[in-house]
Amino acid sequence: MPSETSVGILALQGDFLEHSKLLKVLNVEVIEVRNSQQLAEVDSLIIPGGESTTIAKLIDVYNLRQPIIEFAQKGSPVWGTCAGMILLAGSLVETEPSPLKLMNTVVQRNAFGRQVNSFSTELEFEGIRDGLFEAIFIRAPHVVSANNGVKILSKLIDGTIVAVRENNLLATAFHPELTRDARIHEYFVQMTKGTI
Ligand code: GLN
Repeated sequence: MPSETSVGILALQGDFLEHSKLLKVLNVEVIEVRNSQQLAEVDSLIIPGGESTTIAKLIDVYNLRQPIIEFAQKGSPVWGTCAGMILLAGSLVETEPSPLKLMNTVVQRNAFGRQVNSFSTELEFEGIRDGLFEAIFIRAPHVVSANNGVKILSKLIDGTIVAVRENNLLATAFHPELTRDARIHEYFVQMTKGTI
């Protein structure tokens, strides 16, 4: 039987397949989104990790900027992981790429240094069950300021903000799709169903 909930994954560049694998265990329909027709078929959208400058360019090449903005503004859930957090930002510390300006956040790219400075750590994440979440950071951004209306869901021990939610928008600096732990995907599916 087809599931009534469909989650779209922006599949232009980056680790969209990893998201897809984790979502499939949650009994939702997963649709790769590469154009506005596909976007119109889904209940929510994930913008994956990858290279934010490349994803931004491809969003423009595929004429998806305005459709994604409208999708989010009509209240459909959108979750950005890593590069996706950068793209959802209201503004960036850097001049590139041009973000979608959907969240009331200021985000800094590569906030923890280069690829060799990648790390993983156990975090508290507000709203998920059963304790700490193993978070993988790869050339990750962080939220420099979470402004009006933005709720902080997770911080590093030094106070660095690494996960935020603003109504229907969710952003994580790390990569839940690179673990086997589906709890944050489950959280987003609940957002998609409108239960949280
Ligand atoms: N550093 C990348 C960027 O600025 C993001 C890295 C990632 O998504 N893992 O786009």
